[in-house]
Amino acid sequence: MSRDSLEPPKQQQSAPNKNGVPRFTQRVTKLDVQLDNQVKYEFGGPAGATAMMLGFPCLMYYFWVCLEFHQGKLIYPSDVSQWKSWLVLEIWEKIKVGAFPSTWAIQVYMGYVLFSFVLALVMPGPVVEGLPIPSLNGKKLKYLCNGLSSWYLTLVVSCVCHVTGVFRLSKLIDHFGELMTVAIIWGFTMSTMVYVASIAMKDTHRMSGDFLYDYFMGACLNPRIGKVDLKMWAEIRVPWPVLFYLSLSCLLNQYETYGEITPPAFFMVLAHFLYVNACQKGEECIPTSWDIFYEKDGFMLIFWNMAGVPFTYCYSSIYLIKYQLTTGHAIAHSWVFNTAVFSLLLFGYYIFDTGNSQKNRFRMEQNGSFIVRNAFPQLPWGHIKNPSFIRTKHGNLLLTSGWWGIARKPHYTADLMMSISWGLITGFSSFLPYFYFCFFLFVLVHRVSRDMERCANKYGQDWVEYCRRVPYIFIPYVF
Ligand code: NDP
Repeated sequence: MSRDSLEPPKQQQSAPNKNGVPRFTQRVTKLDVQLDNQVKYEFGGPAGATAMMLGFPCLMYYFWVCLEFHQGKLIYPSDVSQWKSWLVLEIWEKIKVGAFPSTWAIQVYMGYVLFSFVLALVMPGPVVEGLPIPSLNGKKLKYLCNGLSSWYLTLVVSCVCHVTGVFRLSKLIDHFGELMTVAIIWGFTMSTMVYVASIAMKDTHRMSGDFLYDYFMGACLNPRIGKVDLKMWAEIRVPWPVLFYLSLSCLLNQYETYGEITPPAFFMVLAHFLYVNACQKGEECIPTSWDIFYEKDGFMLIFWNMAGVPFTYCYSSIYLIKYQLTTGHAIAHSWVFNTAVFSLLLFGYYIFDTGNSQKNRFRMEQNGSFIVRNAFPQLPWGHIKNPSFIRTKHGNLLLTSGWWGIARKPHYTADLMMSISWGLITGFSSFLPYFYFCFFLFVLVHRVSRDMERCANKYGQDWVEYCRRVPYIFIPYVF
């Protein structure tokens, strides 16, 4: 089929399903192809991309030194003219001692990466179809969603290894620096492998022609090894479980050293468990999300998933244990404060879980790929009965019910509520536990502007009508 034959848009509508959502046999339009191919420098173009590729690892090492050796205080040279020697003594020497990639760390991190990849290949799970891909003439790729069975098996295996002493999970945190370096090296290695393979196989998409920018954004849209979609695997199978195990390691370490588990340490394990579990139990909703159908698999996604997410989003957990190890007492709050922060987390999680599932299940119904799964926990209002929506000229439907009638990005607000609760539980003595919230706020605001611009171009007047019907982006009557 030639691309021109994709015009005019012919969305073939079939009768609404039992839930009142019409299913479309979607054909990609010329506009879809045009938007999907449009090269626009984002993130500050090649200069911004290069700065981020160099800056991320440097920032991670700097924060690691602050956490590991200075109780989370942000350090700087007292005499600015001596910055070179400060850099060598304060940062480099410490990296050499505490963050050198040991054989143990390579075995543990790469062992987990390999283990999770093998599980993605062999474990059972439903197969769902993604959205029509404009660059593949509207073809829908199939995704094997075995995240949940893999996650449960991983929990069982790690529990057995810990209890029998084969691999004590509490050790992870003692080797944090080494593991982080291995993850950083692997982030660069995998980005390079995917980039080179995409070029070699001529499987490239939306290339700008600038090497550094393309390396950052990625060359290929949907790289696969066998039935494993590398982008989806990297998004949920590595970062979130590793993050969870780092927090669990802090909690176990606290228990082994002090014989107690404090509410903040428990809070962090709960928070990270909820996040990783949500990713696995709702995996079948991910193929219709923007990362999968639009973003390419480049350094930005690969590095951040392999190294950035697990080794920076865990600062709260690390801060709590380091604080206790250096001062001899744990961070504690009043029960009122604890209750408020736990409530913020759980309420944020509720909106995050149901908000994502409301929209993604709605999109899956429209796509004809909706399946019922009863993975734990299934929360009330995760699937909207007889939803209201705007039928766009493009053919797609825009949901205006549930959380989606209240705000245009309710799932972002919820994610931010959770992320600030991760900081609040540590108190107010260090910025580092709030790094995730600040960084994430920046990422999501930028993501909203990119997405809104794309949707405005794609849906035209219908988007204007949608924004009129749902006027607030994050919080009703505020913003
Ligand atoms: P979405 O999956 O929500 O994707 C946005 C797309 O959804 C739009 O491009 C549009 O696609 C479609 N859409 C928008 N509004 C509607 C509507 N009302 N009805 C139907 N479709 C609509 O966004 P993200 O992938 O950015 O976020 C998914 C989750 O992942 C969020 O909870 C977010 O917080 C989380 N996230 C977490 C990160 C982390 O590091 N912790 C990083 C990034 C995301 P179309 O053009 O097809 O209509």
